[in-house]
Amino acid sequence: MGKALLLTALALQAVAPPPKFDSGRAWEHLRQLVAIGPRPAGSPAIEQTRKYIKDQLAAAGLTATEQAWDDQTPVDKVHMVNLIATIPGSRKERIVIAGHYDTKLFREFRFVGASDGASSAAFLLELARALKGRRNPMTIELLFLDGEEARMPDWHGTDNTYGSRHYVEAARHDGSLAALKAFVLIDMIGDRDLDIRRDANSTPWLTNLIWDAAKQKDLDGYFLADTTRVEDDHLPFLAAGVPSVDIIDLDYEQWHTAKDTLDAVSARSLQVVGDVVLAALPQIEAHLTKGIVLTGRRLRSPRPYVVTKVNRRAKRRLVHSSATYRAAH
Ligand SMILES: [Zn+2]
Repeated sequence: MGKALLLTALALQAVAPPPKFDSGRAWEHLRQLVAIGPRPAGSPAIEQTRKYIKDQLAAAGLTATEQAWDDQTPVDKVHMVNLIATIPGSRKERIVIAGHYDTKLFREFRFVGASDGASSAAFLLELARALKGRRNPMTIELLFLDGEEARMPDWHGTDNTYGSRHYVEAARHDGSLAALKAFVLIDMIGDRDLDIRRDANSTPWLTNLIWDAAKQKDLDGYFLADTTRVEDDHLPFLAAGVPSVDIIDLDYEQWHTAKDTLDAVSARSLQVVGDVVLAALPQIEAHLTKGIVLTGRRLRSPRPYVVTKVNRRAKRRLVHSSATYRAAH
């Protein structure tokens, strides 16, 4: 080996290898969660699910914090719990990667939610293991949301996204919302026939970074260019001004049926999303940390001089462009 080559080899050794998502482990989590059976909010089975999640996080060296409350649904009062695992980073500003772990309540058939509920929780558990050993430039918070599903048969009004709404409200109250710089939502990613579309509600720059990563990984056969519009746990975060993206495959024949079982999902689909999220993460961090350094957050403050200096038409345009700026950041 020549000297230059040796030095290169040593330099490579000094750099920690990038984290790898292991779909074998994620699949085992998914299988265990499905084996618990239906896991609607407030049930003994979701309590068992929480125990599984907490135990697995502990095995990865992480402590889960419980955020518990009672919420009034159109049907009944339900005890709900979000689980939060924090992986420290060089900065206190954080990226939240979230998914729901409850399954929709169906009385007329047995619904185990292999993709809708288990896939997101299983994904987060494996991501926790993968990111725990990484040197993270920003704090990463893994958020397991309760009460995503509507209690009533249909998705209507505020009878859904209980966990995400509660989290945002609590973060607003305790002042931790300001340090939340991006929200990445994972939902229903187990579909054997994986096709994830862009969501028109999601923040464009964040969506672009993820779809770019998919393209670079040659996985754009799963992350399609078409766009749909999805209502999900990211909406309360978007409403609070947090750049957010929903990674979801809603084009799933077995959705909310007795057939959302192990047969309908695959480890390969979990791997695809794991590879894409891990590839996109450094880009997201680069985008956010660059923003923090360059703007020092001052660009976000009100722009009082603008209003006095321009006529009404120009003002409207400026107001519009500042709204675009906010939406794009
Ligand atoms: Zn659902």
